[in-house]
Amino acid sequence: MTAIDMTGLRGAGRTYAVTGRPGLHVSVANLGLACCAVEFGSAVTRGLLEPADPTLEPEMTVLVVSGTLTHRLTPALVEAWDAVVGPRVVLALGACATSGGPYWDSYAVVEGIDSVVPVASYVPGCPPRPEALVAAIVSLADAS
Ligand code: SF4
Repeated sequence: MTAIDMTGLRGAGRTYAVTGRPGLHVSVANLGLACCAVEFGSAVTRGLLEPADPTLEPEMTVLVVSGTLTHRLTPALVEAWDAVVGPRVVLALGACATSGGPYWDSYAVVEGIDSVVPVASYVPGCPPRPEALVAAIVSLADAS
């Protein structure tokens, strides 16, 4: 079963760079699972993130998991993580990815993606601000 469109992963299409840090070659791949993915899209439409130059080799790839992870989708998340090549980190965007959010007690929902993949950064909020997403990405890059 492949329930998630993984064309956003590096090497397969839609990746982004941080507009405010032109010297920073970080590839950002979004795994949109629910409404937090709209906030990721907002970061793009506001010009905070821009399509990455495919000819540049990024220093690292940030896999952004934005939204609610269900148990049924867990294998697809593992598959997405395994598909990221090179130096890589996971960013949990929003309350759902962090802890299950408002659906934490649902039988279908995973109480935080860190039980499935290693998470390097958590961005709080329901939903979080696009600026907070970009700030977290820059912090990860600066810490690497
Ligand atoms: S944290 Fe809130 S905005 Fe984000 S996916 Fe969950 S319910 Fe939606």
